[in-house]
Amino acid sequence: MKKIIIAGPCSAETESQILETAIKLKQIGVKIIRASLFKPRTNPGFEGVGLKGCLWLAKITKMNLIAATEILLPQQVKKVIEKIKKEGGKINNLLFWIGARNQNHLIQKQIAKNILKYAPSSVKLLIKNQPWPDEKHWLGIVNHILSVGFPKNRLILCHRGFADNPPPSFRNRPDYQMAKNLKKTTQIPLVIDPSHIGGTKDNVIKVIKETIPLDFNGYIIEVHPTPEKAKTDAKQQLSIEEFRKIFMIINHEEK
Ligand code: PEP
Ligand code: MN
Repeated sequence: MKKIIIAGPCSAETESQILETAIKLKQIGVKIIRASLFKPRTNPGFEGVGLKGCLWLAKITKMNLIAATEILLPQQVKKVIEKIKKEGGKINNLLFWIGARNQNHLIQKQIAKNILKYAPSSVKLLIKNQPWPDEKHWLGIVNHILSVGFPKNRLILCHRGFADNPPPSFRNRPDYQMAKNLKKTTQIPLVIDPSHIGGTKDNVIKVIKETIPLDFNGYIIEVHPTPEKAKTDAKQQLSIEEFRKIFMIINHEEK
């Protein structure tokens, strides 16, 4: 089955950064561009460009690409959709996600409710695992979201590793067995986030290569036109060329 590949910068920073990435990734064959407008941060500082980036996301959607962005607060769903519509974007071409650190189930449910209310039915929601290892909690997030009537076929799961005991030089510890269990129990496609597991370019490539045979449904990969200048997660973002090489390997193995 064709893998889901979501690629793009950790954060949308400028119009040229995000559009250059989208144009080049489209040429390579990517259909879903990640571009976070709102960033959960460990410390105060850059928290994402916010709603002003909707203009850039609108341009991505008009290139017949899907623009993927993290939602931190329920009210951001309506605001992002309205702004993208106002900028002439295609609101069918969106994907939202709930990040690892957003672990209030009331917020998770309200985000899902707002997507149901304001987004067209083509818009999917990706759910990342929480930062600590607990299969019941991860399954609980899915159940909370399903409990508000969000259809299973609009969900994608994402494994971004757990914060406890990462392997040397890794950022988070993957638990592929737990991820497999979740995929099986929920019957929802699951993608791997090698960027937040690996934490460095070399580890990102390593995680991708070791998971290709594991039968997951794809990847969300951080890619930046000039990774060393990135405002967030500079160490783990692949350049376009580095991504091109690994994308070819993923596609080759799939055939
Ligand atoms: C991200 O995707 O950039 C991010 C903040 O990741 P996570 O929610 O997995 O920490
Ligand atoms: Mn990141």
